[in-house]
Parts: sequence; structure tokens; C-alpha cells
Amino acid sequence: MNIITFDIEEWFAYIDQGRFKEYDLYLDTILNKLDEQQQKGTFFCVGEMGRLFPDVIRKIHSRGHEVGCHSNIHTWLNKMTEAECREDTLRAVDSLEQCIGEKIKSYRAPAFSIGESNKWAFEVLAENGIERDASVFPASRDFGGFPNFGQEEPCIVEYNGIRIKEFPICTAKLLGKEVAYSGGGYFRFFPLSFIMREMKRTQYSMGYFHIGDLLPDTIGVLSKEEYEAYFKEPGTFKARYLRYLKTNLGKRNALKKLMRLMSSVSFFNLEQADSMIEWKQSPVVKI
Ligand SMILES: [Zn+2]
Repeated sequence: MNIITFDIEEWFAYIDQGRFKEYDLYLDTILNKLDEQQQKGTFFCVGEMGRLFPDVIRKIHSRGHEVGCHSNIHTWLNKMTEAECREDTLRAVDSLEQCIGEKIKSYRAPAFSIGESNKWAFEVLAENGIERDASVFPASRDFGGFPNFGQEEPCIVEYNGIRIKEFPICTAKLLGKEVAYSGGGYFRFFPLSFIMREMKRTQYSMGYFHIGDLLPDTIGVLSKEEYEAYFKEPGTFKARYLRYLKTNLGKRNALKKLMRLMSSVSFFNLEQADSMIEWKQSPVVKI
């Protein structure tokens, strides 16, 4: 089962750049391609988009796709206290539900930022009516992640008496490190043939894309101040340069590559996948 998801935040995250028409165009290209392939995606949207750009969210919803939640303002969950996360999730879910008039049931944390150190986030999600999560990175990584998760397929996460259906991100080994090959910067980096081979090798895959990953122009190295304001960690030269490389690698062909992938693979969204899975037989991961 191959799942396709998009994280929708650019209109809000880069509001001062005013490139809304360009983002709209990329979104339309994706929506048209999904129609052509008769496929549905899950679009994880930041809550503030529901307040500031409701037409974008309503367009996604009216074309028959699932609207999920991607936090309120794209703050990484590992940089929030539990109380802040509770407030953030409440605001985000409320905004999106008011925008589309339907319950939001799926969630993805920005940058897969739920890990061992903030697993209380699952409680916060459950309190807000979230039934499906796609935030787990089931390996160790620079920050967060679940090194001992032990599942690379949909499963049930159990924490403190609550249960959530989990759709973890898929990883592949690159230079001894587990990387999320099926989206983001890694999708641009790996040849399409490698990505398709990996997707076919496993029974489950999860594609994840941001509009920003598909834009062809390069983004400069962030200043120390910009980096620290956004990532809330020391903006060393190395950190800023690595971020620059990750943001810009393989940008020229990214949209074309995505269109080719969507033409050759049958994708489903989380809502469809949820109804196709025999959850009674799925593994339960106690965290
Ligand atoms: Zn995002």
C-alpha cells in the first residue's frame, strides 16, 4: 500500500514573500494530477492557513482529498512544552474544522518532531480527536525519532492508555544512516529509479511532499539570526550550510519527478488506507 501526503504551509510560512500565485499553481498541478490518476491524497495543513488562506484549504477539501493537521504555525513539537503543544493543537484543529466543516482525524508533526522525549504528544492528539498519526520516524536521527520503534508499517501506538493508528515514515539506509527517502529533500536527492525500487520492495510506503520542495529556485544560506529564530538552535556555519544543501538539492527536476512517480504508482490517502487495514491484526507498539 502506497500512501501520498502533502504538507501545506508555504502560503503562511513565507507570507512576506507574497508568492501565493506560484504556490497556487503548484498545488493545482498536484490536484490535477491526482484527478487524472483518480487518486486521493492527505494534505496536512497548518492551522493558520485555515484563518488566513481558507480558500486554499477549501479547494483541497472540495476536490475530495483529506485535510489533516500539520500543527498551528509549523513549530516543531520537540521545541514546545506540553502545555504549548496542547494550545497549538487545539487552535490548529479548531481552525481547520471551522474552515471545512468536518472533523479533522489525521495529523503530522512538522519535521516528524514526535520522539521519545515528547511522546506525551500522542495524548494531546487523542484529546483533540486525532485518530491517525503520521509523525513517527522509526529510527534514530539527529533529534527525536523512535530508535526502538521496531515497526515500519502501519501499527497501533499505545501510550498511557490511549491508542492511535500510526503510519510511520519509511526509511532506507544511506551511508549507514536511516533516511526518509520517499519525500522532502531526500526525494530530490535520490534517483527516481531508487525510490520506486524501494517502494516496490516493501508492502507499505509513505510519500511526503512540501510545495517548497518542488520550487525550482534556490534559497540562500540563512543568516545566523534567521536560522536561530526559525529553528531555535545554534546557527553555526555547519548547521546553516547543511540546511542550505538539504533545501536546495535537486530542485530543478523535482516537480517533473513527482509527476512521473504519480503516473507510475497507485497511491491512497490515510483515510482510504485506514479503512483498508485490518487493525485487529496490526501490531501494537507500546511506547
Ligand atoms: Zn511541514
